[in-house]
Amino acid sequence: MPANDRYSRQILLKNIQRDGQEKLTKSRVVIIGCGALGTTIANNLARSGIGHIRIVDRDIVELNNLQRQNLFDEDDIGFPKASNAAKKLRKINSGIKIDCIVDDVNHENIENIIKDMDVVLDGTDNMLIRFLINDACVKQGIPWVYGGAIETQGMTMSIIPGQTPCFRCVIQDLPEAGSLPTCDTVGVLNTIPAIIASMESTEALKILLGKDINRDFLIYDVWQHDFNVVEIEKRKSCECCVKHNFEFLNAKKKETIISLCGSNAIQITPISGGKISFEELGEKLRKLGDVSSDEIVLKFRIPGYEFNIFRNARAIIYGTNDQKIAKSLYARYIGV
Ligand SMILES: [Zn+2]
Repeated sequence: MPANDRYSRQILLKNIQRDGQEKLTKSRVVIIGCGALGTTIANNLARSGIGHIRIVDRDIVELNNLQRQNLFDEDDIGFPKASNAAKKLRKINSGIKIDCIVDDVNHENIENIIKDMDVVLDGTDNMLIRFLINDACVKQGIPWVYGGAIETQGMTMSIIPGQTPCFRCVIQDLPEAGSLPTCDTVGVLNTIPAIIASMESTEALKILLGKDINRDFLIYDVWQHDFNVVEIEKRKSCECCVKHNFEFLNAKKKETIISLCGSNAIQITPISGGKISFEELGEKLRKLGDVSSDEIVLKFRIPGYEFNIFRNARAIIYGTNDQKIAKSLYARYIGV
């Protein structure tokens, strides 16, 4: 083996070797979400020589992404994340296949997106999409790796349908809208998604090579250097992996999105309902834009958009007719 063979240092690893590298070359993975987690996962896996990588993301690159989304530079601002990440990865490794999908992931398209893939990697920052990935992967029998990062803390878990507990064994149902913080409201240190994404990438390699995976739910705080391993049991009455009742995939559980004709606005009513505390949400949003509220509605304004948020988590977002943009804004500023 020539010392400057692209994968020579990886082939030297006892856990991979020449046979393992050949397996990786024949493998296919899809990365859903191409932000801080997704760019690091894609970078790792492209350099590892995974034969086919698919990248899916609905958003465009913004200046505030550059702090942590490590495939992008200033020239990428304003362009779709998925296609610009793919362009960069092709320069890093021209010997593999990289395709991209610039679209919202939803109950209608997810099965097609993951079909024929060997592993699905979670690069999203969105709980609804994770429940959809879980349903689709359990239904199709495709392993997936969950990951999340916010502030200085991250979580990850690997799910092998038929062998391990699934995501709904851990988190039974979608949290109420507005109940979870988002990176847009509380921030994220750039080291934690890099660490979690590297754990996810390693799990993907182990799955592809047929090695033993991590079966626990890991929680790590990089600031406190506090590492927690939580053992997970299969929930006997799990709707997904036990009953095969794919509520998210079958759209029994989906948000309602309505375009408000003539007013350049979209109304979003989340699946889970919610009880928004105007005081708490207002305090978070005040750092990011203008906030005002009365008994009924909390108004939040950023350049180009105005949110009217109600206590039951319904929101009307003015300034767009595009449902994908409205969903993305909702996920970023309200959450879930
Ligand atoms: Zn389950």
